[in-house]
Amino acid sequence: MPTTYKNPVYPYRRPPELDVQDVRHYPVVIVGAGPSGLAAAIDLAQQGVNSLVLDDNNTVSVGSRALCFAKRSLEIIDRLGCVEPMLEKGVTWQRGRVFFQDREVYGFNLLPEDGHRIPAFINLQQYYFEEFLVNRTHDFPEQIDLRWQHKVTDVDAQPDSTTIKVSTQDGDYQLTCDYLLVADGANSQIRDMLGLECKGQVFQDRFLIADVVMKADFPTERWFWFDPPFHPNQSVLLHKEPDNVWRIDFQLGCDADPEEEKKEENIRPRVQAMLGKDVEFELEWASVYTFRCRKMDNFIHNSVIFMGDAAHQVSPFGARGPTEPYRVWIT
Ligand SMILES: Cc1cc2nc3c(=O)[nH]c(=O)nc-3n(C[C@H](O)[C@H](O)[C@H](O)COP(=O)(O)OP(=O)(O)OC[C@H]3O[C@@H](n4cnc5c(N)ncnc54)[C@H](O)[C@@H]3O)c2cc1C
Repeated sequence: MPTTYKNPVYPYRRPPELDVQDVRHYPVVIVGAGPSGLAAAIDLAQQGVNSLVLDDNNTVSVGSRALCFAKRSLEIIDRLGCVEPMLEKGVTWQRGRVFFQDREVYGFNLLPEDGHRIPAFINLQQYYFEEFLVNRTHDFPEQIDLRWQHKVTDVDAQPDSTTIKVSTQDGDYQLTCDYLLVADGANSQIRDMLGLECKGQVFQDRFLIADVVMKADFPTERWFWFDPPFHPNQSVLLHKEPDNVWRIDFQLGCDADPEEEKKEENIRPRVQAMLGKDVEFELEWASVYTFRCRKMDNFIHNSVIFMGDAAHQVSPFGARGPTEPYRVWIT
């Protein structure tokens, strides 16, 4: 598959803890350098609070995940000082159209009046979103210590202080902190380590994401079809992304076989039926997902604070992902 984006590789650095005897203490440690962890580190730095950020990977998000970023999330990112590159790169939109079969049944404009500095929505691939956040952390070399390929493997949470164990390619080390912010994603291992639950509902339906590269003259609007002629009895969603990439989201039903549906020979006819037989496109990314709506009963346990997808998850529809849970924590 072609790719319009090359993931950056952030360097691993040997931690100073491996060369000292004492266990170091930090005011704030953040687990996870995804959207939530990075946003928290920048927000704290702007308020003069130092943090150590640990991520077990060495790059930003791989493949298609978040795409739509809503006005309120962008306003928070503006406060964090990095909305400009996102607005510049992202595809701005505010209108949506809804179709039933081949009839348009509803249209909306999320920002009918002029004069807003921040648009109703931008579409921007999550890897760009994270890359711009990482770039912003570099403006705070004294406040943010961001360590790639440092995996948190154990947590001992006590009322006054938390001890964590970190694993690296050069060996393991321990540290203590006043506050541990847990932003390690939907399948939070830290949540499991502390024996905590995230309760809610798993939706049985399956959806296919097909990101295709093509030059097309669809307007930059959100188009949503119920029961369209090219994909009967299911729904379809279309969004434009930067770099001439288009996100098409096909509802598949609960019986769909994810492995079969991800095969290019099965995706192409679906896309071609939608776009017309003469339209040329290349498939950039395909994945099949289900979604969950669930949350922890409490986000705070002693001095451990859960945030982002680790704390709660919602359906990806409506752009309520990365900074929305962060907002719940920060306000
Ligand atoms: C198909 C799909 C479409 C979506 N569309 C949208 C959308 O349009 N708009 C929207 O707002 N949201 C959307 N989302 C949701 C969005 O992707 C998530 O809400 C967001 O990534 C959550 O960010 P996070 O920082 O909480 O967690 P993550 O992005 O999962 O980041 C967690 C980080 O923690 C690291 N980590 C994990 N364990 C450890 C450990 N033990 N030690 C150190 N590091 C660790 C991981 O490597 C990772 O970097 C979508 C999601 C999916 C799957």
